[in-house]
Amino acid sequence: MHSDVPSQLPSISAAGVSLHPMRLVLLGAPGVGKGTQAQMLAGQYGARQLSTGDLFRTVMAAPDHELSNAMREAKAAIMRGQLVADQIVIDLVREKIQHVRRTRGGFLLDGFPRTTVQADTLAEFLHEWQIELDGVVSYELDTDVIIQRLSARRTCRHCKVTYHLEFMPPCRPGRCDECAGELYQRSDDNPAAIRVRMENYEARTRPLADYYDKRELLIRVDASGAPREVFERTQQALAPRLRY
Ligand SMILES: [Zn+2]
Repeated sequence: MHSDVPSQLPSISAAGVSLHPMRLVLLGAPGVGKGTQAQMLAGQYGARQLSTGDLFRTVMAAPDHELSNAMREAKAAIMRGQLVADQIVIDLVREKIQHVRRTRGGFLLDGFPRTTVQADTLAEFLHEWQIELDGVVSYELDTDVIIQRLSARRTCRHCKVTYHLEFMPPCRPGRCDECAGELYQRSDDNPAAIRVRMENYEARTRPLADYYDKRELLIRVDASGAPREVFERTQQALAPRLRY
């Protein structure tokens, strides 16, 4: 039987085993623990975490001469207090994926795409580079559980590090482990504000979830329980999609 030459060579893990580079989009409301899962997935599969939030923070911290055109435009918009235009976000993500592609690595997209228009653009440039997404993992949790979780969140006034009274408590109650600053509960972590945020998130994200469901890429993962349990669930859900 004729077999096509793979468009990309598989990456090689430290053990010398051929490993399919994992390419995922992550979806999940604030409070579901998506950031923690992204870190665990990146560690386990050697994929690069591409979070638009982190990207913007890097752009703001770097000197202008180290920035690409898209990055400079993003920085200028943020400094003017404006939203970064869709096209600039797309250019930034495209640059990052291109870089990962050169190293034949995998990636975890977090915060992009946010709209079906962005999803179409992503599909276009991945197609152009003969890259396929392995899946779109949607972390799902009841609003009531999210409220419980966020109600237990405490933030350091000084260095902004966050703690969780149950899952990640500080060593000394009320004090930050990093800088001994005072821990407080953010005013937007109250139940009414969280409910509004969740409804907005749902309304914004539903079309995107439907978009990927139609393309048989959507993987819903129950985000209840400890981070380790959620991670195991994620791995089980991904196993049939990863071609080693
Ligand atoms: Zn602190």
